[in-house]
Amino acid sequence: MRIDNDVKLDFKDVLIRPKRSDMKSRNDVQLERTFGFLHSKHKWTGIPVVAANMDSSGSFEMAEKLSKYKMITALSKYYSLDELKNFFKKFNKPDYVAFSMGIRNGDIEKLDGIIKAKLQNKFRFVCMDVPNGYLEEFVNYVGEVRKKLPNHIIIAGNVVTNEMTEQLLLNGADIVKVGIGSGSACTTRLKTGVGYPQLSAVIECADAAHGISSHHNTCGLIMSDGGAVHPSCVAKAFAGGADFLMSGSLFSGYEESGGETVIKEGVKYKEYYGSSSEKAQTKNYGSVKSYRASEGRSLLIPHKGSVEKFVLDLLGSLRSTATYIGARRLKEFSRRATFIKVNRQLNDSLEKFEA
Ligand code: 5GP
Repeated sequence: MRIDNDVKLDFKDVLIRPKRSDMKSRNDVQLERTFGFLHSKHKWTGIPVVAANMDSSGSFEMAEKLSKYKMITALSKYYSLDELKNFFKKFNKPDYVAFSMGIRNGDIEKLDGIIKAKLQNKFRFVCMDVPNGYLEEFVNYVGEVRKKLPNHIIIAGNVVTNEMTEQLLLNGADIVKVGIGSGSACTTRLKTGVGYPQLSAVIECADAAHGISSHHNTCGLIMSDGGAVHPSCVAKAFAGGADFLMSGSLFSGYEESGGETVIKEGVKYKEYYGSSSEKAQTKNYGSVKSYRASEGRSLLIPHKGSVEKFVLDLLGSLRSTATYIGARRLKEFSRRATFIKVNRQLNDSLEKFEA
């Protein structure tokens, strides 16, 4: 047994120090980024924020809405082949949508079905994720999908440490998804004791990914996944070195979020549930298998109307962070930011006031 004595940080453990800036208006801030990739030859331009591939955030309706803002939706893994085919036939913004898959029976067949229907160019990203990206089977699987789709942008995860970030990148991933136990609907830390504070995971994995470069001058990238509960968390993830940010909870509770609408004592709610919650496993597989524990929970989120209002608030908040730290572009966040470690209790109490 070994103890790692370094203090690891979550978004709540830090604030960003303001810096002198000569910027005149928030309007001057460029939030779009353009990326080249380690394996895929595509160049991608957009706002690198992604709605998670959960039933209650990665919906077709979310993709229609977010693509207007050049943001990505990772479609739920649980859409059927027919549902996906119908959607891809109509949807014409491949840069802003990801096909999602795990390593269960049927996932690769679904991808083969899409390829057979010649619809693979209707999405630029493939989001391959499993709760535990440390499995050798998963690493090999990423290599297999890379062979099938040599020019797609492959996102693979989830992991939280540098050595696995490197391994996934070397095995065919362009973007490594970082986060274990950080999700708002996730109970992995409570059930298994496994996890890693999200901001430190981002800082360490970004450092590893950015150190791997290709001969055409591109490098590995990372996507922070989970644990963002306010626009400030998104800013902190980018300041910590995340290239992309995925969130489920920030995109939950809206008209466009999947998940059922529930009326309780006259109040309208939307369901938000973890992909490994009893609700999701029962809905998508018929039951929770006896050898598995559910590592997710279900929440009811007060209905918040259309997601567009949130998108504008998020973009405005990021522009404001940029002006506080003197960053003209989102790309400059990590170079300009200095984090201050703060008393988490103070941050928690501020949140109560905000709510
Ligand atoms: P959030 O944005 O809600 O904090 O986190 C979203 C992320 O939580 C997802 O992208 C996914 O990686 C993770 N997640 C979603 N459902 C579950 C679950 O049931 N169990 C676990 N362990 N993680 C989940």
